[in-house]
Amino acid sequence: MTDATDTTDTTDASGTGGAGGTGGATWVLVLNSGSSSVKYQLLDMAGERRLASGVVERIGEEGGVADHAEALRQASAELKERGLGLDSPALAAVGHRVVHGGTRFTEPTVVTDEVLAEIEKLVPLAPLHNPANITGIKVARELRPDLTQVAVFDTAFHSTIPEAAARYAIDTSVADRFGIRRYGFHGTSHAYVSAATAALLGRDPAQVNVIVLHLGNGASASAVRGGVCVDTSMGLTPLEGLVMGTRSGDIDPAVVFHLERVGGMSTDEIDTLLNKRSGLLGLCGANDMREIGRRMGEGDEAARLAFDVYVHRLRRYVGAFTAVLGRVDAIAFTAGVGENSAAVRVAALDGLEALGIHVDPVRNAVRGSGPRLISADGSPVAVAVVPTDEELAIARDTYALARA
Ligand code: AMP
Repeated sequence: MTDATDTTDTTDASGTGGAGGTGGATWVLVLNSGSSSVKYQLLDMAGERRLASGVVERIGEEGGVADHAEALRQASAELKERGLGLDSPALAAVGHRVVHGGTRFTEPTVVTDEVLAEIEKLVPLAPLHNPANITGIKVARELRPDLTQVAVFDTAFHSTIPEAAARYAIDTSVADRFGIRRYGFHGTSHAYVSAATAALLGRDPAQVNVIVLHLGNGASASAVRGGVCVDTSMGLTPLEGLVMGTRSGDIDPAVVFHLERVGGMSTDEIDTLLNKRSGLLGLCGANDMREIGRRMGEGDEAARLAFDVYVHRLRRYVGAFTAVLGRVDAIAFTAGVGENSAAVRVAALDGLEALGIHVDPVRNAVRGSGPRLISADGSPVAVAVVPTDEELAIARDTYALARA
């Protein structure tokens, strides 16, 4: 199924001027290839206008398209119908979201055969994600071999995390042999939102310390000092850290041994339990914060417990990252829950006046679509809601490399 939204303008236009190495072409196609879906957005980087976006779902499933190649052809046909064909000379480059860059990729990177081979080597670190990303890149290269293709890594922004925060306290030789360390994810969002938060405050990002709380179906926190990430809640995989829609976040690793030895569960069963049947879903049977809010209103105790566990974990990370940063200038909420749930925001920060955090309940309750402050005037720590835009961030990185 393809669903192309109407043409909309993105929030800020940075006046990118001429198109240097792209021969005047200014469009960028952003592809986010998942295991069973391909999300796409076409942007005109002259003015940063969103031309079209859509998603092809149920790849390889009944009623869906056969594979990623077919999905991209369908997206391409959809765009063509709207007069935005991928054969257009206006298309300058394709940007791909790639989940795991390991320690090899710390920056957006132009895809070559060598780069693709390196990304393939990282599959053991992200067996659910990188293969689909790789397929997306291959198919797009076949479709337009003449175009610059850029890989933008979800881990890259976190590559600056110091060893003290990135290392697990396990045998170093074992860790190094298997690439076990904290990589972090959602990096494109954390980079975009921390910069947008500094902009909202009217301050130089290099001078601002921000805690970013990316609360979507997946959720992660990061501590950003002067534009540089110094800690994040996700680890080797996106399972660590905050309570998420279906993922447990932090647990005692001995839970796994216990489930194996006492529960008789297999590694795959435990993997599925912790990634797909835990988090909010595991606690109350629902992973959508809207439904949890409704059920709490009806006095549902499981929903209340799920909310409380979710919020408790969030507060722990706010406290921890306050200590990591020493001085916090702003806390930014983003993604589906962070942008929309006033209840989560207020519960997470309630009673933290001693940390300089004062949320204004009226500002918090007002719905809006743009970046906005929800802290009280004079709050030493600014609290903000800053909508994320990973596609725009990927498009900017891609266009910059295509023009270089
Ligand atoms: P994302 O992964 O960023 O798309 O976020 C998806 C999640 O955002 C959903 O699973 C919901 O739990 C949550 N969400 C979306 N809209 C709302 C809303 N109006 N209120 C509370 N939660 C919301």
